[in-house]
Amino acid sequence: MTKIIKKRLKKICSCCGKAIKVIVYSKKNYRGGHYFGKIPLVSKKEYAKAEKFGMDKFVFHGLEMRAYKKDPKPYSHFEYWECPKCYWRG
Ligand SMILES: [Zn+2]
Repeated sequence: MTKIIKKRLKKICSCCGKAIKVIVYSKKNYRGGHYFGKIPLVSKKEYAKAEKFGMDKFVFHGLEMRAYKKDPKPYSHFEYWECPKCYWRG
């Protein structure tokens, strides 16, 4: 089976800041870096707004946790990537 390269991406490692060359074959098939998903970026203002709605306290595995009753709205998302070096270093 021949793999067709769809596109090449230049990403920045979120761990060490080095450039990563990612080769994308398909949506879920890529090489060169490790993608961890999108991280929501929330402003302090939005956190403050969400806090006004209150927090829910609940116990999870014996630990008291707190969760926003209303999730803060992220103003943006950023893609979290790690280069192979950081990924394998753990
Ligand atoms: Zn790195």
